Amino acid sequence: EKKVLGASSKDLTPSYDWFQTDSLITIVIYTKQKDMNAELVILDCEDKRLRGEIIVDDYSYLLEVDLDHAIQKDMAVNIAEKVGKVEIILKKKDNVHWKILGQPLENHNTFMKRTDRGLFYRKCKLVSKTEVTHDTKLFCLLLPESTHLHIPTGQHVYLKQIIAGTEVVKPYTPVLPFLPLDFQEPYCHDSAYIYLMIKIYSCGLFTQALDHLQIGDYISVSSPEGSFKKSQVQTSEDLFLLAAGTGFTPMVKLLNFALTEVSCLRTVKLIFFNRTEDDILWRNQLEQLALKDERFEVQFILSQPIRDWMGKQGMISSSLLSEFVKRSRKDSKVLICICGPTPFTEQGIQYLKDLGYSQEEVHPFTA
Ligand code: FAD
Ligand code: NAD
Repeated sequence: EKKVLGASSKDLTPSYDWFQTDSLITIVIYTKQKDMNAELVILDCEDKRLRGEIIVDDYSYLLEVDLDHAIQKDMAVNIAEKVGKVEIILKKKDNVHWKILGQPLENHNTFMKRTDRGLFYRKCKLVSKTEVTHDTKLFCLLLPESTHLHIPTGQHVYLKQIIAGTEVVKPYTPVLPFLPLDFQEPYCHDSAYIYLMIKIYSCGLFTQALDHLQIGDYISVSSPEGSFKKSQVQTSEDLFLLAAGTGFTPMVKLLNFALTEVSCLRTVKLIFFNRTEDDILWRNQLEQLALKDERFEVQFILSQPIRDWMGKQGMISSSLLSEFVKRSRKDSKVLICICGPTPFTEQGIQYLKDLGYSQEEVHPFTA
């Protein structure tokens, strides 16, 4: 069952128009949204099926047609951010006149809650797989040429594989290929690639299958999902990141964003919980980053150190949090992000509440 907005909100419904020249088809979407950006436009084209999704807050507008004629693989997306106009430029394969843009598909020209839309998957090619630690790897996936997709900071995607005849889906949070160490310009990597830092569990259903993928194999990747809003960081003076194990993954883009684009931040502190030293992800890069940027500090806390460990030990606790999470000034605006195993996140939220932090000051990353 599809829920389409009623007449009362019609004025907010995006609309589209199209026109052509001998060689090009231009589709213009009027989103009626003032601050459009590339992250809010998701475009896919496979064979002649064109799918363009525009995210408008919690809603999604969809353009979905079986094009009248074939197009070339590369297409361009131009966004007039202030006026909210999105232009999709397709190159005709043959210089013929199109009578119509195409046959509308099932959900063409609908505007509905994002949660009712369902996830869309496209097949991405595994281009590299590199070791991060003894059990964690960085997977680099290449999006199809005819896909336009940017994964926003703080959001995750779903991977889908058929395992022993059954479709299995798991969420993963894209990272960057490395941490920003050069602050000359905000670091912007080629958005055709998606980097995933994934721990391979010896008895893990999905991660074992992932580990067996060969370079050149394909895997289905969904559109992004997640409730984090960049504006939560943009107004903060102190940012605390509490990460456990692979709960570090959402912190990567967040760190990059905070340190390169948020000028009001005075302190950024990562408190990183792991079992042993060998489990610490990107330790060297984090230490380099702390040397490079005086606003940034990293604290490693081990729950099961094996060798001599001079650093902190333990699990998340009220005393550890009161020691490391402190406002830099009496009434600094803080944001505390937390991610890790469910009990870690739940305990963390409770301790922070007990320490007097409000719900607005704490953002947990969950599915
Ligand atoms: P499973 O077969 O589910 O089991 C994994 C291991 O844990 C096995 O060893 C199993 O024995 C054990 N296990 C399973 N269930 C339990 C339980 N309830 N209690 C104790 N032990 C248990 N992971 C990443 O590596 N990188 C990411 O970027 C990432 N992002 C995520 C984002 C979100 C929003 C969420 C919710 C999870 C994310 N995860 C991430 C975790 C990921 O989705 C999978 O859960 C993980 O990869 C394990 O999948 P699996 O099928 O291999 O393991
Ligand atoms: P792990 O088992 O190696 O544990 C890392 C640290 O987490 C431990 O050293 C300990 O300090 C803490 N911890 C573990 N179990 C705990 C418990 N029961 N109570 C309190 N603290 C505990 O971690 P891992 O194997 O890397 O797992 C990472 C977890 O993070 C997974 O469950 C994964 O699903 C989750 N994750 C969630 C998201 C998200 O929701 N956005 C993103 C990435 C990872």
